[in-house]
Amino acid sequence: MKTASDRIRALMSAHPVVDTHSDYAIELYRREQDGVSDALASEHLPALREGMVSMEVLTVAGDFDIDTLKLWDQRLTRGVIDATRRQITAHADFHIVRSAEDVAHAAKREGTHFMLALEGIRGVEDLAALRMLHAFDVRAVILTHNERNLAADGCGEPQPGGLSKFGRAVARELEQLRMIFDLAHLSDPSFWDALDHYTLPPVVSHSNARALCDHRRNLTDEQIREIGRRGGVIGLNFLAMFIDADRGSATTDRLADHAVHISALAGAQSLALGPDYADYYMDAMLRWLQRDQLPADLMTFVHGAETVRTLPVFIQALADRGFSDDELIGILGGNALRIYSTVLSHNN
Ligand SMILES: [Zn+2]
Repeated sequence: MKTASDRIRALMSAHPVVDTHSDYAIELYRREQDGVSDALASEHLPALREGMVSMEVLTVAGDFDIDTLKLWDQRLTRGVIDATRRQITAHADFHIVRSAEDVAHAAKREGTHFMLALEGIRGVEDLAALRMLHAFDVRAVILTHNERNLAADGCGEPQPGGLSKFGRAVARELEQLRMIFDLAHLSDPSFWDALDHYTLPPVVSHSNARALCDHRRNLTDEQIREIGRRGGVIGLNFLAMFIDADRGSATTDRLADHAVHISALAGAQSLALGPDYADYYMDAMLRWLQRDQLPADLMTFVHGAETVRTLPVFIQALADRGFSDDELIGILGGNALRIYSTVLSHNN
């Protein structure tokens, strides 16, 4: 098994390491139902420490279901936000990122930082609902999952359109509220529409390059260039199906190919880490795959860095491909924090 060198581990421990997309907030809520009230500290923190991650962007609602839980249900959203905020504020070393000042604190790598995010806004029926979520600390928004909702078409629609009138109003409101607009999961027309109604630097939190792996969830070269032009960031996704059409070939080196490709089109300052790790609810995932008659190995992750505990192995693969220390510091978290700081100014 590959490991990371002392040099990479030293780099990661000295600089912020940001995971731009993870879904385990729902697990914090689910574990509370099981009587475990501090899963963030007791179950997730040890894994984050081992993987040297210092900041997580956590999905608190979305347009998908996990087992019987529908993540767009507003009562569930309240429960997940409530559980997540309580578990963060209960711990002296945990911090919620709401403002540019909070981002500056996260950049010092003191304690562990969390940002609350949406992955689909099916539960957001009007702008008042969006503003309420902002008031409850949500700071990043993906408009859709793979399907269509009131705001936009996701990438899984057979003949996708772009943003609806409501979706355009949401995009403009995100700018007004100084919230992060995350373009992951959008259809191609939605992607371009979104950029017509939002002028701050955009994020694509967990997507790779379509030129290397022809999947609807990945970005075209033109999209990658545009993210670079706008000073945005793209978080690399560690799911095998987004790395190589042959999932068996999804090695850390193959994922590094995506980093090299994106860097050539948009610059290394556009790269971030959005692994989308899901080992903490793999049993629920497997039931979902079975229900939808999908292959059982669909949810496999990049070989050698399958869980957050092994994240440094992928950073080693980037170093082996010639990324400099300065570039790696940006990819680890500096680039994501740069955008978060710009967008979250004027928040408090
Ligand atoms: Zn996703």
